[in-house]
Amino acid sequence: MEKGERHTDLAGVERHALEAALEDRGHERFRARQIFQWIYRRGVTDVAAMTDLSRELRASLAETFTVETPTILHRDTSVDGTEKFLLRLSDGRTIESVFIPDTPAMTFCISTQVGCAMACAFCLTGKMGLIRNLSAGEIVGQVRVLAGALSMLDKKFNIVLMGMGEPLHNYDETMKALRILNDEYGFDMSPRRMTLSTVGILPALERLANEPIMPNVAISLHAPTDIQRGELVPLNRKYGVADVIEACRRFPLKRRSRITFEYVLLAGVNDRPEDARGLARLVAGIKSKVNLIPLNPAPGIPFDRPSDEAINRFAEILAERGVLVSVRKSRGRDIRAACGQLIVEGQRKSAAQQLAIMM
Ligand code: SAH
Repeated sequence: MEKGERHTDLAGVERHALEAALEDRGHERFRARQIFQWIYRRGVTDVAAMTDLSRELRASLAETFTVETPTILHRDTSVDGTEKFLLRLSDGRTIESVFIPDTPAMTFCISTQVGCAMACAFCLTGKMGLIRNLSAGEIVGQVRVLAGALSMLDKKFNIVLMGMGEPLHNYDETMKALRILNDEYGFDMSPRRMTLSTVGILPALERLANEPIMPNVAISLHAPTDIQRGELVPLNRKYGVADVIEACRRFPLKRRSRITFEYVLLAGVNDRPEDARGLARLVAGIKSKVNLIPLNPAPGIPFDRPSDEAINRFAEILAERGVLVSVRKSRGRDIRAACGQLIVEGQRKSAAQQLAIMM
């Protein structure tokens, strides 16, 4: 935030930076707390309406800042209560965010990028390619918009960074967003209520291990061998199964927390008993749990969801070997809000542009 620079997005500014900016302009630092409370607790984004600030301060804020807020273009409700929001960003790009009630907590599934560069074989978002990163303001903005629309600004909720995008591929803005969400004058969210899901970008995972605000971590594993995983998760060619597992073994976990391994079950591909046994061997000795995600099919995704029988057998083999295992209930499938079903049409990149981004 440079002095003289006009119209910084106030919704992406951390409180300490706002305090410094206010002080620079001759205002009291504590005004930042009031501004945070207006934006995050009361959902007020028009500085003119922040009535406990002086007229002079309001005028000065209006000169320097705007508060960018994604707008709701469309809202779909599933028979199971899940709601999918199509949100428009200030440059006209669109993203999706999902509200999942009673899981048992209230959960917001938030995007970190427009599209995604990871191109996992079974994920619809991966078909879009990466269009651009979201700013911290846009990441937190989804939480503001959903909490506002659902009258939950004063309620407790969880967030999972499992919407569109790979959070560790947009590291700095994602971490800044988590710090803003954690701010005691804003949403005051405990990191325990935040889960970051990643395909396993190992240098970024190592950085995460040293963060003061450490969310729960979920690793998208999906297969027990490099041959299988390489087919599903292109990034595996760079960071293979053994390295991912080793990084998880080293990851500093808080008391009472575990790493989650996500495993999308694909019929005939990675759902055989030998795959389950391989997975159990891999995760043995890591404080972890395995979350099985039966594939949510979608047009253009060349895989099938296994039968309930195959899913149960897979889970049983893990459980027999002492692995904590759960099967993710897919919520909102009727409105394409379930894992891997988020895509916004008309924003695709060509394969060549795509490759350039990943390299
Ligand atoms: N980029 C992050 C977040 C992705 S979404 C990551 O890879 O972890 C969260 C989970 O949904 C991931 O484990 C992802 O692999 C999974 N997923 C993607 N497509 C899916 C689909 N069609 N069916 C079920 N799960 C899917």
